[in-house]
Amino acid sequence: MSQSIIDYQNFIDGRFVADEKGDWIEVENPATQEVLARIPDSGAAAVEAAVTAARRAQPAWEKLPAIQRAGYLRKIANKIRENGDRLANIIVKEQGKTQALAKVEAFFTADYFDYMAEWARRLEGEVLTSDRAGESIFLMRKPLGVVAGVLPWNFPFFLIARKVAPALVTGNTIVLKPSEETPINAYEFAKLVAETDLPAGVISLVGGRGAGTGNALTSHPGIDLITFTGSVGTGQRIMAAAASNLTRVNLELGGKAPAIVLADANLDLAAKAIYDSRVINTGQVCNCAERVYVEKKVAAELTDKLAKLMAATRYGDPSATADLEMGPLINKAARDKLVGIVDRARAAGAEVVTGGKIASLEKGWHYEPTLVIGNKSGSEIMTKETFGPVLPIQTVDSLEEAIDLSNDSEYGLTSSIFTNDLNSAFRAVRDLKFGETYINRENFEAMQGYHAGRKKSGIGGADGKHGLYEFTETHVVYLNHG
Ligand code: NAD
Repeated sequence: MSQSIIDYQNFIDGRFVADEKGDWIEVENPATQEVLARIPDSGAAAVEAAVTAARRAQPAWEKLPAIQRAGYLRKIANKIRENGDRLANIIVKEQGKTQALAKVEAFFTADYFDYMAEWARRLEGEVLTSDRAGESIFLMRKPLGVVAGVLPWNFPFFLIARKVAPALVTGNTIVLKPSEETPINAYEFAKLVAETDLPAGVISLVGGRGAGTGNALTSHPGIDLITFTGSVGTGQRIMAAAASNLTRVNLELGGKAPAIVLADANLDLAAKAIYDSRVINTGQVCNCAERVYVEKKVAAELTDKLAKLMAATRYGDPSATADLEMGPLINKAARDKLVGIVDRARAAGAEVVTGGKIASLEKGWHYEPTLVIGNKSGSEIMTKETFGPVLPIQTVDSLEEAIDLSNDSEYGLTSSIFTNDLNSAFRAVRDLKFGETYINRENFEAMQGYHAGRKKSGIGGADGKHGLYEFTETHVVYLNHG
């Protein structure tokens, strides 16, 4: 083990503490396979200590005026901004994002804390009319208590804000478990939190693997809400763990976003938006275009434009080169999954127009940006989440066929349509069974929106007012004042 490798410690009850289990997980740079740091593979005792601290801290935290809680969010936002470039470099190294995107992630995360802080003066209950004379009914919104936030690796830093900021401003405390693939940014976040005067126990961080640490946290009876972002399979396991305590779940899971391109669309705009949304973060984005349905008349032209964009993609080690569109996949398994999916599509008769193989770079988990045509309904590549820079296209005869094929999926997170006809756009909006639809633009959600998947893409949602209120529960009060 080289001297330069940092051993991180869990952040529990306002202090950095050694994990008594003493097991470690090495964190690798996916572009170079170099070991960057180690984090504890925490045992149940660390989870217990973090949940106990969160429970102890919660009543006083809830009693603080919301505007004071928001003040802490603003302090955290400022700390993130002061350290934005450093945090972005960490994200580049451990996750493999391009430098430009990592910067966006770091500073957007700060903005998200500020945005959620704004809700302090906007949290509202309701006053209801009563059937009885001399009675008023009040609906109050209260925090749930202690939240468990289980994070994925694809936007690891931003997801911290998506869990922590709404939890805290509404009066909850939180225990975070970062992904074992990308935990360094979360430990650095904890260091920034420790530099503020946030009361001990309001935010704790426990590292470890999903099956051990993650399961200990999500099956803990001291948790009132599990907010999880990750894969469908893990979401199912978490829901099963939550069932034993009837703990609430908020699940942001996978997707297989369709992009519908009609014959009247601006094809340059469509190609660029779909391309951008497939190579951004090396295709490892839950809401970005994963399959294209294009009307026959313009299929060849769209394919040509997409192929040119794909083939011109600059990719490599994002720590070494600033000017890239793409870095590596997160790990070998993710890259090998793409190899399998594309090889099987080819064997089933699909045609690879560009890409289609492991990139010829010395180190790292790189795969070429890949465009596949001649795909059939129900095929693996059109139905399974690839989570990589692989774009399959299928031709259709009509908008109706495109909508039917889009809906014929176990996922229902996001969708997009490219057309210059308002009627077509609105027919699609009416009939698409998805939580979000992007019209004539790339897939990327706003923090004031509501990011929520249907079907196996999740339960509940995040962002905006509706996401915020998922961190609260209602308390109805009947006042007989005569
Ligand atoms: P993952 O499910 O492998 O892991 C996510 C987290 O869950 C990790 O912290 C992991 O340690 C933990 N975990 C694993 N098993 C667990 C268990 N049994 N109990 C408790 N925790 C457990 O997901 P990932 O590979 O990190 O992320 C990629 C997936 O996330 C993709 O499917 C993607 O579509 C999805 N995603 C969805 C959204 C959204 O907003 N809907 C956003 C980002 C990513």
